[in-house]
Amino acid sequence: MKTADVLNHSNDEATSLNGFAHEEIGDEHLLTGMETPMRSDAFKISDEDKQQKIAHYFSEIMETLGLDLTDDSLKGTPKRVAKMYIEEIFSGLNPQNKPKIALFDNKYQYNQMLIEKNIQFYSNCEHHFVPFMGKAHVAYVSSGKVIGLSKLNRIVQYYAKRPQVQERLTNQIATDLCEILQTENVAVIIDAKHLCVSSRGVKDDSSSTITSYYGGVFNTPNKIIELQNFINN
Ligand SMILES: [Zn+2]
Repeated sequence: MKTADVLNHSNDEATSLNGFAHEEIGDEHLLTGMETPMRSDAFKISDEDKQQKIAHYFSEIMETLGLDLTDDSLKGTPKRVAKMYIEEIFSGLNPQNKPKIALFDNKYQYNQMLIEKNIQFYSNCEHHFVPFMGKAHVAYVSSGKVIGLSKLNRIVQYYAKRPQVQERLTNQIATDLCEILQTENVAVIIDAKHLCVSSRGVKDDSSSTITSYYGGVFNTPNKIIELQNFINN
């Protein structure tokens, strides 16, 4: 490739990334899309095969760091990490793990907002693969259908168990709830602490990040204040 080609190529890339370099996108945690960027062949290999591959590559990382994998303490780590990735912390990448949701008729005709607050979650920053965690508050006004309260929690956990960006997590939970509940009247607020901000980088241990989605009736100043009062009290 000629130098001019290289320059053109990187210019194109800079345009598509709004003028940011990949390094900046990651370090500043900028969001590039609302969908989790997945490969089209994401599920062509089984979970067992994925675990084997991840264990292999993770042992390479550890060895490259200079760690002695024959040590009893480290021996099991690659496999342990692979199992944790697939079965736990990144299990939300697989649509098969999506919680099954049953809808019920809103028999009692309760037509005010319902808030499930302080849903504790753990997710992982997709730019650094270190945890971010916090509380999600979810609210909706029934369009005639309701779901079990524990399902609100399960939906939050499902989307949290992906490499994530907080804005996307907020939107994915909201969009899914709108679809399940067949209403636009959904709100999601997430207050989270990012270990990649507190334990490295700027090492700020006191800041937290708040993201929100206010759909339908929630998207008015009065409703937002009402919602925030419920959440803060
Ligand atoms: Zn990060």
